[in-house]
Amino acid sequence: MNTVCDVNMCAGCMACVDICPRRAISVVDDMEHMNAIIDLSLCINCNACHKICQNNNPPILKKPKKWLQGWGDEQTRSTSSSGGFGQEVMRAVLRSGGSVAACKFESGEFKFELFDDELRIAEFIGSKYVKSNPVGIYKSIKSRLKTGKKVLFIGLPCQVASLRNYVNDNANLYTIDLICHGSPSVKLLQKAVDEYGYALSKMNAIYFRSSDKFAIETQPLGIVPKGVQDRYTMAFLKGLCYTENCYTCQYAQVARTGDLTIGDSWGTEMTSELPKGVSLVLCQTKKGQELLDLMDFNFFNVQKEESVNQNKQLQHPANAPRERKRFFEDMRKGKKFKSAVMRAYPKDCMKQNIKSALITMNLWGGEK
Ligand SMILES: Cc1cc2nc3c(=O)[nH]c(=O)nc-3n(C[C@H](O)[C@H](O)[C@H](O)COP(=O)(O)OP(=O)(O)OC[C@H]3O[C@@H](n4cnc5c(N)ncnc54)[C@H](O)[C@@H]3O)c2cc1C
Ligand code: SF4
Ligand code: SF4
Ligand code: SF4
Repeated sequence: MNTVCDVNMCAGCMACVDICPRRAISVVDDMEHMNAIIDLSLCINCNACHKICQNNNPPILKKPKKWLQGWGDEQTRSTSSSGGFGQEVMRAVLRSGGSVAACKFESGEFKFELFDDELRIAEFIGSKYVKSNPVGIYKSIKSRLKTGKKVLFIGLPCQVASLRNYVNDNANLYTIDLICHGSPSVKLLQKAVDEYGYALSKMNAIYFRSSDKFAIETQPLGIVPKGVQDRYTMAFLKGLCYTENCYTCQYAQVARTGDLTIGDSWGTEMTSELPKGVSLVLCQTKKGQELLDLMDFNFFNVQKEESVNQNKQLQHPANAPRERKRFFEDMRKGKKFKSAVMRAYPKDCMKQNIKSALITMNLWGGEK
């Protein structure tokens, strides 16, 4: 197999696909791994893909100079996954005349778009706990930067690192990376929601969490009763189903690839605020500070040690649970997603099944 980076270690960031002048690269997703495979009959050995790939370059990481936490106004906060920093920074950049590139869900896909209109922000809000697909966005950002316009990119750290390689660290590019636990293949999400009776491609919207409650919801309801954890969310939170590369992720540390980093302030001393969502914001560079200066946001200092203690992805990559191997064997054999998670975590699943039955029979109030 002729792959752009080490076999089974591809992050699916798609930068190599965007840069290849011969359309010689296809990214193959077998759910457990991704591989960017080169069609040698088309390849002209220009080496551009190898050079761009974040896996083939030592990461350029910077230690945060500022550790902040905070939240936006009530409206912003209630519609965001955490404190709403993502939403507010997009607004600030657009109001200052820049463009934003971020991830949205549409017709079953988690794709990226470049936009200039503040009215479109709602399309891009919210954490999508799945591998997003940035194909095409690197090219679009590069051409937008050539016009002299400022562009803000928000994405996973591996995507930010490849983008920086792609545009050669352009002065008008501003980047924000998310603290990242790991991401599963979208095929697993499709399989899971299908077993709950939904087709991902037909969903108008999908939500993975609301503040500190993690569960998949679509409009108008959740795929399971409120207060119950669906099997996809359980597998995601336990780190069972990420692609192989995520367990050795080079970005799971305090030093970061973006100008800013955002996540959840799980270590906050303002514990009563957590259910409403508190963003953790790390600032690494002057450009990061420029973004902060543009914003209208309730910032507070946060204790670095507690933030790191409470957010394992600032210490090391997710540990692969011992049940993972068998889970993917089950997937390869075509077994049901739900029963494979049940085999991995029988007690947790039984607990959720009982809770679901009690809520359905009105014997448990569920959680608001
Ligand atoms: C796969 C994944 C794992 C995460 N793991 C952690 C963790 O372990 N610890 C932690 O503190 N935080 C984690 N986060 C970040 C957290 O869930 C919130 O996204 C973050 O706190 C920002 O919330 P917000 O309210 O500021 O912004 P929001 O309005 O929720 O916006 C977040 C921004 O992130 C973008 N985004 C969302 N999902 C994706 C995706 N899959 N790919 C690319 N861009 C995306 C959106 O387009 C939006 O621009 C993770 C996020 C993802 C997507
Ligand atoms: S070496 Fe060049 S032509 Fe060959 S796959 Fe990579 S980018 Fe495409
Ligand atoms: S550039 Fe991204 S998609 Fe291509 S091989 Fe590297 S990690 Fe995989
Ligand atoms: S864990 Fe690392 S490699 Fe995996 S999606 Fe997150 S940033 Fe990318």
